[in-house]
Amino acid sequence: MRNIIDKQLWQEIISAVSFSGEVTFMEPMKAHTYLQIGGPADVFACPQDTVSLENILAALNEERIPFVTVGGGTNILVKDGGIYGAVISLKNFRRSDIVKEEKDMLLLFAESGMPLQKLVSFSKERGYSGIEGLAGIPGFLGGAIAGNAGAFGYSIKNALVSVRMLNPDKGIYEMSPDNIGKLGLEYRASKLPEDTVVLSANMRFRKDIKEDVAKRTNSFLKRKRETQPLSEMSAGCVFKNPEGASAGRLIDEAGCKGMRIGNVEVSRMHANFFINKGDAKASDFLKLMDEVKKKVVKVFGAELEPEIRIMGRDVNR
Ligand SMILES: Cc1cc2nc3c(=O)[nH]c(=O)nc-3n(C[C@H](O)[C@H](O)[C@H](O)COP(=O)(O)OP(=O)(O)OC[C@H]3O[C@@H](n4cnc5c(N)ncnc54)[C@H](O)[C@@H]3O)c2cc1C
Repeated sequence: MRNIIDKQLWQEIISAVSFSGEVTFMEPMKAHTYLQIGGPADVFACPQDTVSLENILAALNEERIPFVTVGGGTNILVKDGGIYGAVISLKNFRRSDIVKEEKDMLLLFAESGMPLQKLVSFSKERGYSGIEGLAGIPGFLGGAIAGNAGAFGYSIKNALVSVRMLNPDKGIYEMSPDNIGKLGLEYRASKLPEDTVVLSANMRFRKDIKEDVAKRTNSFLKRKRETQPLSEMSAGCVFKNPEGASAGRLIDEAGCKGMRIGNVEVSRMHANFFINKGDAKASDFLKLMDEVKKKVVKVFGAELEPEIRIMGRDVNR
């Protein structure tokens, strides 16, 4: 399949609008995913500011060129044929600011490229409660909102007061406390439309005893380190937990730990993590997902749904 967007077309698009930021062509997505898997994106653009982002999305929309947004790339599997169109990275959107600080609470503004762990550390150091359970979850704030990241009974949803977004048709708009429910943030899911970019959010944290917040944050992190292969190349949990069950336990008890296709292996530490053992292919990752799903259906009759986001095209299309 021909690339939809090449240097010349991009130059035409970009010269017509004001844009500052970095742009690369045929950018290997394996360099931008925690899994280190994924073929090239036709264009990989990292706008420097909101105006550049707005302009580029409007131009892509006009040219009918598809785009996807990425944050830290910690929850995505990009197929081996790469991504047709543009990938927009929010890595330059890292501003944060204290909006209001009162005796018992803090209102914090942060842009979507803010690493989630910076927020967790900030809360811990200042003694604010609300996101302790997110300790150790990699990626950015925008990605955490898009998938309502969470663990140990905590989720980013509970801290959110409002979310600012950008859509090529609607422009910039805000989901306020009155209508934030429309974002549909549920267990590892949101109703965020594909063409909508999370720009920033306001979050509220509750003042607590600093030592208690630190203790909880450290103990969640310790549990995570003891049970998950955090230093290996993965995308976190591959499948969502079915109602009332743990996907990891089902996969384990169906005998899948250590199963391997190509260079992708079901982690021996946590069966819901699939590991890139080195230079793995997305096609093997997908085959392994299929095999594991089949085994779990056979043994337990339970249908596993992916938690990771799968994007891009196969090689031979
Ligand atoms: C070792 C490890 C442990 C993990 N543990 C957990 C855990 O305990 N709990 C948990 O919930 N997750 C966990 N994850 C998964 C992942 O870290 C989270 O889902 C994280 O919040 C994803 O953020 P990201 O910025 O990396 O998003 P990405 O992976 O870049 O993107 C994920 C999705 O969000 C969309 N997206 C990203 N940014 C934006 C934006 N600004 N606007 C609109 N859409 C956007 C993308 O298009 C994509 O569909 C883990 C992952 C790893 C590798």
